[in-house]
Amino acid sequence: MEMTGKKPVVERATSEVRRRIIDGQYAHGDFLREEPLVKQLGVSRHTLRTALDRLVAEGFLVRDANKGVRVPVGNAAAIFDLQRARIALEIEATWGLTSTALTGACEVPIAELRALEALGGNAVAHATVCGQIHCAMVRSSRSPRLIRAHALLSNELLVAKIPLLACGPVGCGDAGSHASLVSLEGKNLARALREHLERERNAILLLRSH
Ligand SMILES: [Zn+2]
Repeated sequence: MEMTGKKPVVERATSEVRRRIIDGQYAHGDFLREEPLVKQLGVSRHTLRTALDRLVAEGFLVRDANKGVRVPVGNAAAIFDLQRARIALEIEATWGLTSTALTGACEVPIAELRALEALGGNAVAHATVCGQIHCAMVRSSRSPRLIRAHALLSNELLVAKIPLLACGPVGCGDAGSHASLVSLEGKNLARALREHLERERNAILLLRSH
């Protein structure tokens, strides 16, 4: 295995390209060219392709047959569709869970969000931690397929929000609103979760239209 420092080189290349995507260095729909990336990252073509495959699997990039990989398109239709899929998945994943189980599962990321708010943390960190709260909710379902599908949607949505992060936090809510969300269960939770995610979607779409 190629190693640089402690991290395997594939992991290092993956996190570097992921960081560039999150930093907004590539425009939506942009194809990533292999040649310059191989030079910039100082890795083999094989390593780069493995890293890009990982990012496709994570939802940070999409592959177009014969054309290569590109940053997913973050237009209004895509955001609307992503959020519809998240609503369906999150409601199904949390159905039947008790508020005690959900509160316990989300305790750590909610505390992290509260700490970020106190520090006035940056917008990317805010959006990322919001995503982690929802991932923790879905992980409570213990369904590997729901968890995987949800992680993919969450990452794609994060990429779609990147151009807006400069305008301020575009997370789905503050620590308090998440704490009250996970204190619900059954139909009340399903209804509140739908409203929570629809509100986020509307806020993103509103910012995009400016
Ligand atoms: Zn949220």
